[in-house]
Amino acid sequence: MKRFPDEQACRDYIFNVRWPRGFICTKCGESKCSFIKTRNLYECCYCRTQISLTANTVMHRTKLPLRYWMLTFYWLASGERISARKVAKTLRLNYRTALRLLHRVRDAMYLDSFATSFQFWTKDQTDKSPAIVKELKLLLLSRADKFIREHYKSSSEQCRYRYYSEYRFRDNYGHSPAEAIEKLIIRGAKTIYTWNEYGRLKGGPAIA
Ligand SMILES: [Zn+2]
Repeated sequence: MKRFPDEQACRDYIFNVRWPRGFICTKCGESKCSFIKTRNLYECCYCRTQISLTANTVMHRTKLPLRYWMLTFYWLASGERISARKVAKTLRLNYRTALRLLHRVRDAMYLDSFATSFQFWTKDQTDKSPAIVKELKLLLLSRADKFIREHYKSSSEQCRYRYYSEYRFRDNYGHSPAEAIEKLIIRGAKTIYTWNEYGRLKGGPAIA
């Protein structure tokens, strides 16, 4: 994790993922901001809205160092086996905090795969897809079950969908840890591309 040696490195990285073309105010679309160091907030120079780097992401209102998040993202993105116990031990957190951290990251993976076909992960008897599609679904399901067995031994029925999402997420981005980390950062941050920015990209006037 040489890439994230300290909080500033994490902050820079997240900033670039959220605002690849520079800061954009989520309220008015202005691109000038000042950084309030004492509170770690960006303030829009035009409307004075204060925006946190982690607002609306899975790290929303976090009290944990950003580095912990990036490390957890990295472990998951690089296909490592991960458990709350391991996170707790490595980051010296108590078990409950580590569990909550993992849940949040799994939520991001869940949201990522939710956009695609969620029905994929059910053995739906009334499924009217063609036989070959059904077969493929069952194959994926059995692979996902195998992944869960190997990684987590057993899991409650309730957690199962989250683990399916995790399997799917790892499968989708397994080839590129960097892309996976970016997905985990921006998932939930719906304001990255605002209408204002869209208007500006198109060369049109910003919509107030
Ligand atoms: Zn503004």
